Amino acid sequence: MREIRIRDTLSGQLCPLPTDKEIGIYACGPTVYSRIHIGNARPYVIFMLLRGFLDFQGYTAKLVINVTDINDKIYEAARQTNEPSEEFARKMAAAYREDTDRLGLGRPDAEPLATCTIEGIVQLISELVESGHAYESGGDVYFRVRSFDDYGKLSNRRTEDMDQGEEAGSASLKEDQLDFALWKAHKPGEDTSWPSPWGQGRPGWHIECSAMAETELGASFAIHGGGSDLIFPHHENEIAQSEAAGRPFARIWMHNGMIEADAEKMSKSDGNIFQLSEALDRYGREAVVAFLISGHYRQPLSFTETALQEACVRVERLRNFLRETSDAESPGLEAESSMEMFEAALADDFNTPKALAQLFDLVSAANQTGVEGARSTVTDMLGLIGLESLANATARPDDEAEALLAERQEARAAKDFERADEIRDRLAELGWEVRDGADGAKLVPKA
Ligand SMILES: [Zn+2]
Repeated sequence: MREIRIRDTLSGQLCPLPTDKEIGIYACGPTVYSRIHIGNARPYVIFMLLRGFLDFQGYTAKLVINVTDINDKIYEAARQTNEPSEEFARKMAAAYREDTDRLGLGRPDAEPLATCTIEGIVQLISELVESGHAYESGGDVYFRVRSFDDYGKLSNRRTEDMDQGEEAGSASLKEDQLDFALWKAHKPGEDTSWPSPWGQGRPGWHIECSAMAETELGASFAIHGGGSDLIFPHHENEIAQSEAAGRPFARIWMHNGMIEADAEKMSKSDGNIFQLSEALDRYGREAVVAFLISGHYRQPLSFTETALQEACVRVERLRNFLRETSDAESPGLEAESSMEMFEAALADDFNTPKALAQLFDLVSAANQTGVEGARSTVTDMLGLIGLESLANATARPDDEAEALLAERQEARAAKDFERADEIRDRLAELGWEVRDGADGAKLVPKA
């Protein structure tokens, strides 16, 4: 098997993946208090593609992405809509699945919910209390941070710069302000709670990931991932909880950079395209995926209209190449070496921009001088970055579809949106998706 290396946040080193065939990956998923935004989609895409790449290399990867469905923000949002919080969280979790389904990358192997992991959570907290790493106070349970010598090793912060970001009301219950909540006593106004040895209450956020990772992947697993905004306090606290309870936990910590956007500006101009579902409506899944892998996963990525337009152009270039090239040859030497460099880029800390550059070099060479077996190699490459649908759907719209599109434009101009939607549905039946881009509407084969 090819050696695959990932930059580990804890050691700062490029670490080779363990040589065992089975690779467990745990990535922190969303808290479902609203529709997810493009920033939540980045780790989803990166870790789904990483799983696919590892499988392609002969590993058996298991990817777990949790869903946080108990949280203060969920109570608050449910109050705003006058719904029971359970019902609200269920709806938002379904919307999350729907939105991420549209990325066309499949599902993780497991997607545990916090509300379905209470037993494991209570068990882990009990062990921490018994061993003196945690204590009960006023129906809450807190982790005793100074009992764990390695605290701070992931985020490298000085203790005076550590703020657990917990509600002010819990301050008087803590022995030390560094401590953080594992369990919170039920409060008036909260419409869900669970029994525990410390009374009715609910788990804190950090403990759910320690419990779920162990339930799904065992006490030691290869990769723990998530956004770099989770390094402190969330991941620091996960390490403390699991290691203090005698679990070796994750071997490699893999963090993606944040998506940076002028959210206010972008939501003012054209609906809230920072929301994943709207970005998908506007740019289509291929361009959204192409955008999300256009930068190295560890670096921040700017979400701008220009960046998305560039992604659309790249996708269109690939689509045109596949339309215009019909060779059924098997790859010759040049195509093979190109594929080798593409895989090597992904094996080297999952360098998707370097892999994309390789892909476009091959497309250019094939366009200029012809490369034996370029089409099948490009198709294989696209399969590893979630864009294989470009190879399957390369048809051009026929006269009927073009006529319908023109009719839809007229209906929209006349503000007959009902008719416009009917035509959109009819086009979908014919296998076409309408994309309303800055340069007008066009038809794209449905994935
Ligand atoms: Zn987590």
